[in-house]
Amino acid sequence: MQYEAVIGLEIHSQLLTESKMFCGCSTRFGSEPNTQTCPVCIGMPGVLPVTNKKAVEYVIKTGLAVNCEISQHSRFARKNYFYPDLPKGYQISQYELPLCIGGYVDIYIDESSKRIGLTRIHLEEDAGKNIHEGAGSYSLVDLNRAGTPLMEIVTEPDIRSPREAVEFMKKLRAILRYLGVCDGNMEQGSLRCDANVSVRPVGQKEFGVKTEIKNMNSFRFIEKALEYEIKRQIKLVQSGERIIQETRLWDSQKGVTESMRSKEEAHDYRYFPEPDLVPVDADSAWINDIKAGLVELPDEKRNRFINKYNLPVHDSDLLTSEKAMSEWFEEGVRLGGEPKALSNWIMSELMKFLNEENKSIEECPLKIEGLIGLLRLIDTNVISGKIAKTVFEEMYKTGKDAETIVKEKGLVQITDEGAIEKAVDEAIAGNPKEAERFKAGDEKLLGFFVGQIMKATKGKANPQIVNQLLKKKLSP
Ligand code: ADP
Ligand code: ZN
Ligand code: MG
Repeated sequence: MQYEAVIGLEIHSQLLTESKMFCGCSTRFGSEPNTQTCPVCIGMPGVLPVTNKKAVEYVIKTGLAVNCEISQHSRFARKNYFYPDLPKGYQISQYELPLCIGGYVDIYIDESSKRIGLTRIHLEEDAGKNIHEGAGSYSLVDLNRAGTPLMEIVTEPDIRSPREAVEFMKKLRAILRYLGVCDGNMEQGSLRCDANVSVRPVGQKEFGVKTEIKNMNSFRFIEKALEYEIKRQIKLVQSGERIIQETRLWDSQKGVTESMRSKEEAHDYRYFPEPDLVPVDADSAWINDIKAGLVELPDEKRNRFINKYNLPVHDSDLLTSEKAMSEWFEEGVRLGGEPKALSNWIMSELMKFLNEENKSIEECPLKIEGLIGLLRLIDTNVISGKIAKTVFEEMYKTGKDAETIVKEKGLVQITDEGAIEKAVDEAIAGNPKEAERFKAGDEKLLGFFVGQIMKATKGKANPQIVNQLLKKKLSP
């Protein structure tokens, strides 16, 4: 029997507001423990929370970007549970009236698209952090993160494979970063994802019992954890056992998911409306204002790149995955770069160098003007495409412009036919057997001769002229 996976994601993203959700404390990451706290976020009795308007705006902005219906009237609820990183004994969240309802995100896999439905988006506050370090028989609590605005996005169970889950997360991360509402840093935990997974025989309508997986802090771990969990469930079902509904933790060291706790139900949390906060009334004028301020989103930009610049889908996807990268590219086009040539250089050389140093385009030492200068030298036949790679590396490392490097290193392309002819003659004279075989029809040897000539000219001979002359001289 064939089985298929059913997956729904719950994504938490920390919003990029200056201050916390219900108090004025800073949300900055990495400060000394417990230095960004106040009576409100450490849960002193008698304090009153005040809603952060910016956080509400960010959630509405996100909702508009992913096609949700924005609730004109929503409210906060108390979600009661006990854990040391939650000083109040409850988390302020939203329950029956979330800020955004429905919506969807389109993902692209192998040039076909799939629509993943969203259930809701709501606003809540983050908890603090328990630190289980050191030898003592105690744990420490850092409440700097307690009360940080957290946006929770819940998908419908529309995802069918680990690959789709990863593509969804990549797209969502791109959207959040375009909007500037979340930095999308999965390692630091500002974007976190829990995955609900079940399996069922292909063709069956009803869903199977699901488990929830936590602790996957990278795209790769999401994929690995889901692959593992789907296999585990299929094995159980095939041997006639039942899946237990529970929360499981991904252990990236062991590469397995392990049972953490039994699943809690909504009634365990004793939700009730937060009595200390007024409901959120988002009037249509405000919503329209936010809508008017929306930037061009990854999908629109991708489609525009395909149409306007005639770029392949693959190029457009890659160039628009980061807003700053897409802007870098478009600046290059404005400066006269041919779109496809520019895209090739960005996708191959530039991304290779950036990835090697784990740098973003904002941190790129090479300026777009520099790359355009390099393209110009190729276009005008001053250097060959091959030499250009050497120049590119030098530009990236030294920040010098292409022309200077070409002059300093004497890399100007040889286009003088006489000089090239000499190199061609020498290559033929030095390899008489290969020349005979070529004349007898073994045309694969053309590459061999080109290689010899490039070696002799240190890669500087104009490849078109080399090819022409070789063919002329070696024709039977
Ligand atoms: P719960 O009541 O357990 O919190 P929800 O219905 O609220 O479950 O759904 C939580 C998440 O789990 C959503 O992302 C949803 O798409 C997903 N989900 C629900 N049922 C299943 C299932 N049988 N298999 C996989 N995912 C599911
Ligand atoms: Zn505070
Ligand atoms: Mg639920």
